[in-house]
Amino acid sequence: MIRVRFAPSPTGMFHVGGARSALYNWALAERSGGRFVLRIEDTDAARNRPEWTEGIISALAFLGISGDNPVFEGPYFQSAYEAQHREAAAKLAADGRAYYCTCTRDDVKARTGSEHQGYDGFCRMRGLTEGAMRFRTPDDGVTVVQDLVRGTVEFPNEAMEDFVIARGDGSPLFVLANVVDDIEMRITHVVRAEEHLSNTPKQQQLWAALGVTPPVWAHVPVIVNEKRQKLSKRRDKVALESYREEGYLPEAMVNYLMLLGWGPGDDREIMPWSEMMPLFRLEDVNPSPAFFDEKKLRAFNGEYIRALPLPEFVRRCQAFLDPAWDLEVFGRVAELAQTRVAVLSEVKANVDFLFLGEPVFDQASWDKAMKAHADDILAGYAERLETVSFDTESLKTALDEVGAAHGLKLGKAQAPVRVAITGRTVGLPLFESIEVLGRERALTRLRAARERLRAGA
Ligand code: GLU
Repeated sequence: MIRVRFAPSPTGMFHVGGARSALYNWALAERSGGRFVLRIEDTDAARNRPEWTEGIISALAFLGISGDNPVFEGPYFQSAYEAQHREAAAKLAADGRAYYCTCTRDDVKARTGSEHQGYDGFCRMRGLTEGAMRFRTPDDGVTVVQDLVRGTVEFPNEAMEDFVIARGDGSPLFVLANVVDDIEMRITHVVRAEEHLSNTPKQQQLWAALGVTPPVWAHVPVIVNEKRQKLSKRRDKVALESYREEGYLPEAMVNYLMLLGWGPGDDREIMPWSEMMPLFRLEDVNPSPAFFDEKKLRAFNGEYIRALPLPEFVRRCQAFLDPAWDLEVFGRVAELAQTRVAVLSEVKANVDFLFLGEPVFDQASWDKAMKAHADDILAGYAERLETVSFDTESLKTALDEVGAAHGLKLGKAQAPVRVAITGRTVGLPLFESIEVLGRERALTRLRAARERLRAGA
């Protein structure tokens, strides 16, 4: 059975790159009827925070990765397995595969004359019984890593120093803890970010020294921004949570993230999980850097939004609207909003005019729309609104006629009315909006806008 794991460290916001790795593991587990183990690597007590662990679990659930699916196992917490890590270190020492070392960094520098030389093996034969523990690496030959994404990667052993696996107080380092947990959890495939490729020859040595066949490795490509720089949390919007808060749908996120380094082999891009998952193969992951194109993600999201059945769209918008707003009223314009937004957070500004006593005037829109003739148009249209039959067609014809009387095309005549009604120059179709707003409220707004004009706003 394929057993994969996702092993994030809870040291910050959950990154879209982490989400992509998690999804690749999830796809692999799900399509093979295997298991996906969530292991929180929480051994760096100084940098971990419980809210980041919660953030990881909630972000994964948002993507559909949770215990609701029997493929999911965990979460396990690395800190709970320290005894096993220490035991493994002790075994390596007993087998002569690791040794104690008391050298400081300065000692090594003094002997080698360089900071970059790596450890010189000074304590290898000293037979010490305390200190940090170093793994005894082979002196020559190569460590060959077979990576399903990157192919065969060779690391000369000469360049691999005797690396530290446990500190002087016996606490394990990442490189060891990670391997011991993978062994204990019977992991068959390690699918993770490319930045860990450099740890892999060391870890492969550890697997072998602990007497276990190493897993299948797959290092997935880095994700870059439009300048081809690796996405960084200081520079780029990398937190999955930010996308969630902006109103990206999980299914659009999943779809887009899956395509960062992988494709179904034809031109298809918009594909639901149920279609992508069975096609996913690590062998098809492209090793070159993947460009995170937020514009494309927005376009994906817009498509997913438009594909939602209307009641479902309304339901999903709820979290992005004012809780005091009547969803039934929203439902009357929801379809108009659905075709116009790319993310759910944009819905609110499109429909707020319906719920507010008076619209929120955007000053730039106001200045743009309230030119000469504005007052005439508002006055003329208000007069017509008192009696016109209240349907989209008649509302439109009436404004068309008022505009014509002042030598204005409909588009020009609409601008002041739109701002008077909604507060902005862009938004939902005007006549539908007026219809839903109703005669009395529409009239009040036209009059209020005229007052404002007179007041010289
Ligand atoms: N805890 C490591 C990280 O977050 C994961 C290492 C791995 O996947 O092996 O980078």
